[in-house]
Amino acid sequence: MALVNEHLLKLPENYLFSDIVKRVNSFKVTHPQARIIHLGIGDVTLPIPKACVEAMQKAAGELGNAETFRGYGPEQGYDFLIEAILKHDYAAHGINFDSNEIFISDGSKSDTGNIGDILRHDNSIGVTDPIYPAYIDSNVSCGRAGVLEEDGKWSNVVYMPCRIENNFVPEIPKQRIDIIYLCYPNNPTGAVLTKSELKKWVNYAIENDALIIFDAAYEAYIQDPDIPHSIYEIKGAKKVAIEFRSFSKTAGFTGVRCGYMVIPKEVTAATLEGERVQLNKLWLRRQATKFNGVSYITQRGAEAIYTPEGKEQVKAMVKYYMDNAKIMKKMLSKTGVQFFGGDNAPYLWVKAPGNQTAWKFFDKLLYEAHVVSTPGVGFGPSGEGYVRLTSFGDRHQCEEGIRRICQCL
Ligand code: PLP
Repeated sequence: MALVNEHLLKLPENYLFSDIVKRVNSFKVTHPQARIIHLGIGDVTLPIPKACVEAMQKAAGELGNAETFRGYGPEQGYDFLIEAILKHDYAAHGINFDSNEIFISDGSKSDTGNIGDILRHDNSIGVTDPIYPAYIDSNVSCGRAGVLEEDGKWSNVVYMPCRIENNFVPEIPKQRIDIIYLCYPNNPTGAVLTKSELKKWVNYAIENDALIIFDAAYEAYIQDPDIPHSIYEIKGAKKVAIEFRSFSKTAGFTGVRCGYMVIPKEVTAATLEGERVQLNKLWLRRQATKFNGVSYITQRGAEAIYTPEGKEQVKAMVKYYMDNAKIMKKMLSKTGVQFFGGDNAPYLWVKAPGNQTAWKFFDKLLYEAHVVSTPGVGFGPSGEGYVRLTSFGDRHQCEEGIRRICQCL
């Protein structure tokens, strides 16, 4: 008899976004005429940059020609993309890596989930709360998170609350934690960490022999010149941090699928016997076993992001979404409602007026403004009492949606 991975069965059946879809569908039944505006989902809406489209078309042509055809590519990624990443994302900012410290992937959801494959099931983990749910769910599915308790928390997870009181910046834990997930700019709160705040985490990891999983999926949205784009801007981070980058939000690649991971050779973890193992080597072993690389066409598309035209087009795309955020913030600030984010991230974290729960506020916005938001509680217990709005929509939809929200507040 084959036995299932029972840890997967522990995952709550209703994933946040399917819950939202259910509520929206029942609203539609009673309000068939309503013109619903979606300000909830985290997907982008603008088409991918022209430079990327042209590069992918050219790459597809090459595959259709006997002289230029390519089969399996290198597991870690093609040199042309790795070199572009090293040069533009790191060397240009004074950070240097070898090409074998970069791993091209199909995106950060896979990477942040799969990295757990090379770490023991009984490491302790710490997450900021609220948080991108995939971090916890991937730990649940291998048994690392423990069991779900009545307060909505997993027994083996240390939650580091991010609330108004601490300006959505998590406090450094008093206890030792083996693996810490940090996501900055943050989804869902839109908060960022200053260099000195991030430095405290790096120091904590060095002092406690901990590993930091640093998700920089929204790095392209940072507007403030003093905010770090990479954890490696902090001295010592190369010893303790793995960084995840994604082209999804940077260049509209949510459907194309491409991202990368940086695993410096200095990052190690211990065996039970106390021997230190390079995580870079272990990850390469894991990839060689389970992954055959990202398509040539996709990697050529990603490379084009770093050309002068690609950079301009990406900049324009980010500006469009951040201008949406500015408009949304400006209108919301006239209502007296408390909200955060939207300065260095495409997310606004809106406090439900009074003591409404996140779902109650979600329903109010749906039924009175016909706007779909994301209830904050779906991102963790500290998200209770908030909803997340995104600025990834079309300009007109963002303006209209936020105008309706302001009217109903
Ligand atoms: N990390 C964060 C914080 C995200 O919000 C998302 C997507 O919304 C991802 C990772 C997933 O990125 P990708 O599309 O590269 O898998």
